[in-house]
Amino acid sequence: MRKLLFQSLVQMPLTEPAPSADDRAFAEVGAALERAARRRLGRSLSIREVDAGSCNGCELEIHALNNAYYDLERFGLRFVASPRHADVLLVTGPVTKNMRMALERTYNATPNPKWVVTVGDCAHDGGCFAGSYAVVGGVGEVVPVDLHVPGCPPAPLEILRGLLALLERVASATP
Ligand code: SF4
Repeated sequence: MRKLLFQSLVQMPLTEPAPSADDRAFAEVGAALERAARRRLGRSLSIREVDAGSCNGCELEIHALNNAYYDLERFGLRFVASPRHADVLLVTGPVTKNMRMALERTYNATPNPKWVVTVGDCAHDGGCFAGSYAVVGGVGEVVPVDLHVPGCPPAPLEILRGLLALLERVASATP
């Protein structure tokens, strides 16, 4: 015990330094996303995250959007607990056979207009899990997909850029 206490006094911390993320880029994309949501919806964007069978890596990046560093809610965007309150389903992972029905039911429970954004390579085509006996495939095999954010996993800024691209695409398609 004494040895451990001494080591903790003389050793450097094991944590890494804080990331030097481009906070200005994040703030600009976030503000643009907030403006686009208000233009298209007249209010902020509500997002329901759905894990269809991921390894949790994509979830960690999505959860990071809510932490004190990225602080997504400063742009008026929010994650909601129910698909009935959501505009966007943010889906990760290959769709496992066990999650297929849950994904379909979540999609059907989301009111129109609704959009599906897939996050991570697995959600696109099964990624490194493609071909597994337990996996149906990409999210597009089960529900229609509006936009894909590539990466394994994509960083929070990329996820935010994907949401912005979605709203810009939706706005340009609206007569
Ligand atoms: S894309 Fe990568 S991080 Fe995301 S669920 Fe698949 S393996 Fe995990």
